This record gives sequence, structure tokens and C-alpha cells, in this order.
Amino acid sequence: MHAEEKRSRGLRGLRADLHVHTCLSPCATLDMTPEKIVRHAIARHLAMIAVTDHNSAENAGAVMRAAAGSDLAVIPGMEVTSAEEAHILGFFEHLAEALSLQALVYDRLQPGKNDENLFGLQVVANERDEVEGMNTRLLIGATSLSVNEIVDAIHERNGLAVASHIDRESFSLVGQLGFIPPDLPLDAVEISARMSLVEARRRFPEYRRLTFVTASDAHDLEALGSHPAYLQAAAAEFGELQLALQGRDGRSIAEEAPGA
Ligand SMILES: [Zn+2]
Ligand SMILES: [Zn+2]
Repeated sequence: MHAEEKRSRGLRGLRADLHVHTCLSPCATLDMTPEKIVRHAIARHLAMIAVTDHNSAENAGAVMRAAAGSDLAVIPGMEVTSAEEAHILGFFEHLAEALSLQALVYDRLQPGKNDENLFGLQVVANERDEVEGMNTRLLIGATSLSVNEIVDAIHERNGLAVASHIDRESFSLVGQLGFIPPDLPLDAVEISARMSLVEARRRFPEYRRLTFVTASDAHDLEALGSHPAYLQAAAAEFGELQLALQGRDGRSIAEEAPGA
């Protein structure tokens, strides 16, 4: 048996939705609460979700606790808005790393308060879906962090950096800068639910060196898990996700279930 074949044994196709907003994001619906998200994710046979609210990770711990004891792996993360108004996803192994990025992001957020009537409520909830309070920061705004600074800050915290929805005009690297800087050490680029990976590879041949992933960018329960990625991996855990994005040890990530 070849080494590669040996390493690939025991791998399974795991459904993952790596871009999920909670009720903390002003643009998400109020029923995107920790316990409901977990229940819907399990019902939709997801093995892994990443919690990626705009410029905050304050609900990530509650979603992790709501999933404790279940088979659902919850990756704490964040969707950071750069000074160029491009969205970058950060995924972390530990909540403390996500909260460390949050401290930096809060320090560099646009000053001002969230206008609940204009942007929506920013609800901090616990794992029993009880309201703990409102976040009053301007989470929908941009930070003063450049794209390069964000990717570096994610990597300094042992995280994975993924450019959000590069096929979209608004709030994407390609939409804002017109291109992905070749020296930007991204771990992957995300393609939104609006475009298939086949189409994306045709449209962005210059980014073939990068790993493409699909995700729902769910802002409501209906969208959660609607556009999963399939992780070919040994288990639903951060280390396996990292190997899959890197295409190492037989791990990979695809838009369709293996054999579909
Ligand atoms: Zn986004
Ligand atoms: Zn998003």
C-alpha cells in the first residue's frame, strides 16, 4: 500500500457550512440563535459549522456550548471587514484565539454606535437562546485594518484566513480591489451560493493556485447548510479542516459529496 493511500484510509465526506451568521450580525434574522442554529445544522446533516459574525465573535462560545455533547463541530470564527471594505473570514481552533482577534478588531472598528433601526439588532445570546444583551458597536462598519493586516492577525492566532465570496461585487476582495493580491497568504477563497465551483474556476483561472470553498453565508435558518462544502477528512475538527484546505494527507474539500 502506498503511503498516500494509507493516509487516505478512514476518510469520510463531511458536510460543512463554513460561513454562518448569528443574531449578533445586524443583517441576520433574530431566530439565528445558538440553540436553533445547532438544531437546524444537525437536522441538515452538517458535521461542522463556522460561526462568522461581522467583526465580532461574541456569540461563538454560546453556539459551541449549545453543540456540546452533539456530533456537530463548531468552529469559532469571524468575518472581518477590512479598510478596503473587503470581507475576510477567520477560522480558529480555540475560542480564545477568536476572542483575541475580536479585541484587535474592536480596537480598530469605526467609532460610533449601531443604529438598530437602520442596520438591525445585534443580539448577544447564550446557549439556551436567552438574550444576554445588545452589542452597541458599529459591527456593520469597516475596520482600519488592511486586508494584509487581517490575514496576518488571523495567522498570528494560528487561524485560517479565507477571502469571502470573491464572486460578489460588494464587500469582496475582487469587487473592492479588482484582484486578489498575489502576495496575500490566503488559505482559501470562498465562492458564494450564487456560483458553482465549476463556473468559478472558469471565471477565475488566475486563482487556480488557491483552494476554493463553498458556503451558505447564512443570515437566516432557511439558508443554513443550503450550500455546504464536503470535507474529505477523518473527523470534524479544526486540524482536519486545515489539512483539507491545504490538500494534504489525502484531505480535500469539494462542492459535491464524494461519488455524487
Ligand atoms: Zn461577507
Ligand atoms: Zn457573511
